[in-house]
Amino acid sequence: MLLQPADERAALWKRVTEIAERYVNTVDDLPVAPEDPTAITRELQRFDFTHPMSPQDALASAADLLSRYTVHTPHPRYFGLFNPAPATMAVMADALVAAFNPQLAAWSHAPFAVSLEAKLVRDFGRRFGFAQASGAFTSGGGEANATAVLCALAHRFPAYREDGLQSLNAPVAIYTGPAPHHSVLKAARAAGLGTRSVRMVPADAAGKMDAGALRRHIEDDMRAGISPLMIVATAGATSTGIIDPLDAAADVAKDAGTWLHVDAAWGGFAMLVPELRSALCGIERADSVTFDPHKMLSVSMGAGLFLTPHASIMGETFGISTNYMPALSQGDPDPYTHSMQWSRRFIGLKVFLSLLVAGWDGYAQALRRQTAMGEYLRGRLIDDGWIIENDTPLPVICFRGENDDARATAAIADAVVSSGKAWISTTTLANGTAVLRACITNYRTVERDVDLLIHELRAARAASSLNRSPGDTV
Ligand SMILES: *Cc1c(COP(=O)(O)O)cnc(C)c1O
Repeated sequence: MLLQPADERAALWKRVTEIAERYVNTVDDLPVAPEDPTAITRELQRFDFTHPMSPQDALASAADLLSRYTVHTPHPRYFGLFNPAPATMAVMADALVAAFNPQLAAWSHAPFAVSLEAKLVRDFGRRFGFAQASGAFTSGGGEANATAVLCALAHRFPAYREDGLQSLNAPVAIYTGPAPHHSVLKAARAAGLGTRSVRMVPADAAGKMDAGALRRHIEDDMRAGISPLMIVATAGATSTGIIDPLDAAADVAKDAGTWLHVDAAWGGFAMLVPELRSALCGIERADSVTFDPHKMLSVSMGAGLFLTPHASIMGETFGISTNYMPALSQGDPDPYTHSMQWSRRFIGLKVFLSLLVAGWDGYAQALRRQTAMGEYLRGRLIDDGWIIENDTPLPVICFRGENDDARATAAIADAVVSSGKAWISTTTLANGTAVLRACITNYRTVERDVDLLIHELRAARAASSLNRSPGDTV
């Protein structure tokens, strides 16, 4: 039952590769979003697991449901939320990893995997300006941000390791810019600090964290007996791509003696493109960085990275000893003593194989093209009379029709999505303005795809102004 005979396995592999290849070759023809996602509940009632299904039928069911009930994030007209089309080598890596199923909790069980990930952490760390990085691969940016909060606590309050929050003799606070990722709030909750410990510093005129306001907020809090734990600056905000002033945040962190974490989950790719690196100037002064290869490096989910120049902090934060795990590593540190997860998947292989084949230059080229496609989209939107509301060198554009309110803006996004031709979303800026949001997430997106989006937007806008009754306020 659990191991099919060799000839049947060969046929199943063939079927799997046919399904995967057909998907890559025809995804552009599929509607980007499912027409009626709620029908999935009824579809699933078929499966009661009392009558075994043949492996071929089981695969066919999965392929059919994946194809009909998924927002096709690998579609070249998915202008969405940082979800890439997976690189070929990443897909291959995931299949290999599943087949070998190495256990990465301990070095001795998987010396290749653990030492490779440690090397990748050092190599990526160098790209972010850390001469000797330590860190860990994570499930994604959320886990990396939570790791940052725990490291900051262990660094600032060594007693926290054993005695927890009870050992802190003052309330602590986390300072973020105007648009932190919400995983920072979750991390504060999980660490026992609560979401109210997260202080959002107001935006300056450009929508970035106001460094002067940050400094004053920290000084006021310190006078009130609150202990500043860390600053979380965002390099490429999720909604807008706005980059907080990292150098200025590093100055404030230094003066206040706090940890500086830079959440570059998406925008960190700029460090891999020579002409974009200056946009993240100051990141090399951070105490830690979040970077998600499963976003702009186009590896399949989940692959996040937590990077830090503090050589011993991972062990200080996560070190634990047991009597059942294998003897301590003779090579790179055992991940179970240096990160949040225990048993876990070999995340680094998909990054390794993709990088081996593309090289740093290949990635720079792909990322440069995606950035140029963002510029192209920005230009086409302006030509069509849309108002651009965000200012970033990164390929995400927030825009709206002149005089459009939140309802009209949402109606335009709905019309584009339900056309099946493209996928965009809406968001609200720090100043309360409702906008449409389109991001170049896919290395396969070309001018023609952008032109099609422009066409759909034009149609949606025309329909939305027709539907507006004369009494409606705009
Ligand atoms: C995507 C994102 C995250 C969360 O990362 P996941 O990989 O989804 O867990 C955190 N911060 C920023 C800025 C992001 O864009």
